[in-house]
Amino acid sequence: MTSKITSQPSCVDPFEAGMINLSEALARIEARVRPVHACERLPIRDCLNRVNNEAVKAPHNVPPRPNSAMDGYAIAIDSLIEGEIAELEEIGSAYAGKPFAGPCGPGQCVRIMTGALIPDGADTVIMQEQAEVAANGRIRIDSDHRAGENIRQAGEDVKQGEIVIEAGVRLSPADLGVLASLGLSQLQVKRKPVVAFFSTGDELSAVGTPLQPGMIYDSNRYSLYGMLARLPVDIVDLGVVRDNPEAMRAALADAAARADLIISTGGVSVGEADYIKPALADLGSTEFWKIAIKPGRPLTFGEIGSSIFMGLPGNPVAVMVTFRQFVVPAIDVLCGASMRPALLVPARSLDRLRKKPGRTEFQRGIATLDANNRWQVGKTGKQGSGILTSMSRANCFIVLPDDNDGVEPGDEVSIQFFDWAI
Ligand code: AMP
Ligand code: MG
Repeated sequence: MTSKITSQPSCVDPFEAGMINLSEALARIEARVRPVHACERLPIRDCLNRVNNEAVKAPHNVPPRPNSAMDGYAIAIDSLIEGEIAELEEIGSAYAGKPFAGPCGPGQCVRIMTGALIPDGADTVIMQEQAEVAANGRIRIDSDHRAGENIRQAGEDVKQGEIVIEAGVRLSPADLGVLASLGLSQLQVKRKPVVAFFSTGDELSAVGTPLQPGMIYDSNRYSLYGMLARLPVDIVDLGVVRDNPEAMRAALADAAARADLIISTGGVSVGEADYIKPALADLGSTEFWKIAIKPGRPLTFGEIGSSIFMGLPGNPVAVMVTFRQFVVPAIDVLCGASMRPALLVPARSLDRLRKKPGRTEFQRGIATLDANNRWQVGKTGKQGSGILTSMSRANCFIVLPDDNDGVEPGDEVSIQFFDWAI
């Protein structure tokens, strides 16, 4: 008999059979999640961050008519004399919203302000800094100008009939402005998906109550709330579910009746997985994915009726990592938009980072600008998946790809800034 225990595959192994990588997990999510179907018509302010349902066609040109880009003088370019200084008669003024009524003929000019309509007969605006007022009140302008200068042409921003915002676009502040520039007060957007979430664990206590021996406070529901609150979804907090099959089944059935996406934390590590798995098997279907990332390797993915279920790990850092890497893309698809790829930025590592090849690691970093305005990044200290302060001190993930085998100070790494979701 040997005196050594042959260990089973576990989360400390760099790689194990049946693992899928990050991009494969994202591809599976993209293939499974169906966008919400229903739409609603809302005032455009309420459409911020929502997903546009139908392409928006411009009902008219923006700007509607030619106007001045500068304060100066509107003239017909033919009034200028090659190689000489023309002296033009000022016949009136044009202001934004108060056009000049008459035409501007040869030898004449109209004092014009930014945004004012170009008078009939004029085709050019001379900046006031490039004109002189003569003692007799005439306006002196040299010939060093070209036709059309300082004029914003009709339709130069948007042409009538053009598609300004495609369907499936998440509406940005600029999009709201563009809609308003077209005079549109309402837009049809996809309804907000409903996301229900709960924590699992017999050890969890509610904040604001005394802590009994062996218990810990439930932090996951707070970090999850914070991340969800930044996304265009309606949130249902289902509290803590205790580690038993009946409670789990009841929580899942309740969540499935109300939500498009159900998120749980905990109860998916080996030995505990059985709390969620049989409940899901009863009510819907489930897959248990081992993803080659650290932290956050196990993820349960399932469907209950028309709801998607994502069972995140219990460790607080793993919750935030898997939420950012998998739940945010799932919500993108659910909202009717496409998945936003992670925005990775190169940075110089200030620290030595330990890493074995096999999995993609999300270490927590603090990115700052160096003296040359380039990004540099240091780690936040202890990197265990229970060290939640490593997340609150960080401003980015240091993303170390599968094949990386460690980083020396000065090496280039990729960072992913905490963004709209974190
Ligand atoms: P589990 O996957 O349920 O075994 O949880 C893994 C670790 O995360 C355990 O140490 C749990 O106590 C901890 N954990 C699970 N859920 C929470 C939670 N909601 N808040 C804080 N820690 C948790
Ligand atoms: Mg647990």
